Amino acid sequence: MKTPFASKEKFEEIAAQYGTPIHIYDERGIRENARRLNKAFSWNPGYKEYFAVKATPTPKILKILKEEGCGVDCSSLTELMMSERCGFSGHDIMFSSNETPEADMKKARELGAYINLDDYTHVKFLQDLCGVPETVCCRFNPGGVFSVANQIMDNPRDAKYGMTRGQMKSAYRDLQALGAKNFGIHAFLVSNATFNEYYPMMARQLFTLAVELQRATGAHIEFVNLSGGIGIPYYPDQIAPNIELIAAGVREAYNEVLVPAGMGDVKIFTELGRYMLGPYGCLLTRAIHEKHIYKEYIGVDACACNLMRPAMYGAYHHITVLGKEDAPHDHLYDVVGGLCENNDKFAIDRELPEIDTGDLLVIHDTGAHGHAMGYNYNGKLRSAEVLLKEDGSTELIRRAETPDDYFATMIF
Ligand SMILES: *Cc1c(COP(=O)(O)O)cnc(C)c1O
Repeated sequence: MKTPFASKEKFEEIAAQYGTPIHIYDERGIRENARRLNKAFSWNPGYKEYFAVKATPTPKILKILKEEGCGVDCSSLTELMMSERCGFSGHDIMFSSNETPEADMKKARELGAYINLDDYTHVKFLQDLCGVPETVCCRFNPGGVFSVANQIMDNPRDAKYGMTRGQMKSAYRDLQALGAKNFGIHAFLVSNATFNEYYPMMARQLFTLAVELQRATGAHIEFVNLSGGIGIPYYPDQIAPNIELIAAGVREAYNEVLVPAGMGDVKIFTELGRYMLGPYGCLLTRAIHEKHIYKEYIGVDACACNLMRPAMYGAYHHITVLGKEDAPHDHLYDVVGGLCENNDKFAIDRELPEIDTGDLLVIHDTGAHGHAMGYNYNGKLRSAEVLLKEDGSTELIRRAETPDDYFATMIF
């Protein structure tokens, strides 16, 4: 059973004050989760979480995470600019980009961010553009498949990211010749991993590679960046990953691989996005129409422009009909938005209580990759974002788009 993070009365109050659809974030949940993560990894003195800005690029959210000791992981010029305006600088910023434009790379260098190179050719690109900094990170792609207990979890071989083992070695050598002194290793192999083995297994691979690279090149490995990928339970019967077990698994690999190699000073970094914010945001929407044809449809005032994941990936997002939590779920509905696209469906054949026009629906787990993936198809405007604060009050943290915003780039 999944319960929303606020009461029906609170959601009604928010809908009355700010309108629907609207994205709402739970400050208490965000802070408690960040503290739990930091505590779980506190065995590693240099540990730092670099929140993946792309997941929830909202200044207030970045500032809350900053207060909890997190840095930011940026992938573009505008994410770097936003982070700068939120007070992040230097090694509080990780720049993990790919197919990087010159302006983006220059900005990252100017801010003194950790630069994570996605490809071997980026060594020369960086050197020619703005010179190599003292500390550089390289992104690794082991190829093959990532499997746990003979079950394939993802296919790194098909991913466009990262360098091969041989390229990592060449990149390190070239970077050393260009003046780099300290190195990082980064990899992202599985997305939305809800099994606890992901980080420990990948960490062991990366630690082994770190020892290899250190031996082969003499390079000082400053950090291993486990990146993002820890998942969240989108389905009500799914079990959440256990961050204490995950961190303990990473620690075991660290003690078995790095420490005996004399590399017990390596810092662990993460770039979690979904895990940091996913469960602590929801999309509040109102049922505005019902339609009975070959199937039963409930039309809501949100659409895929507010939350693209169901349309894009067929992703499941749990739905609670406020005030009807305990009513029999004896109706089979498609819950749909108003785009002229037949994939604009938040739920298909979902068992729900009888929904009346005017009912408020909570679409769960939209805190990461939710509003962030919004777009303007059909001239739809992106909604506002509101923070539910720890004292129960609310704060508007992003206003809704207006027609003027939509027309702003047009030349009539
Ligand atoms: C998307 C991304 C992340 C965050 O991924 P989550 O699945 O949200 O944890 C971290 N690092 C990089 C490089 C990414 O592209």
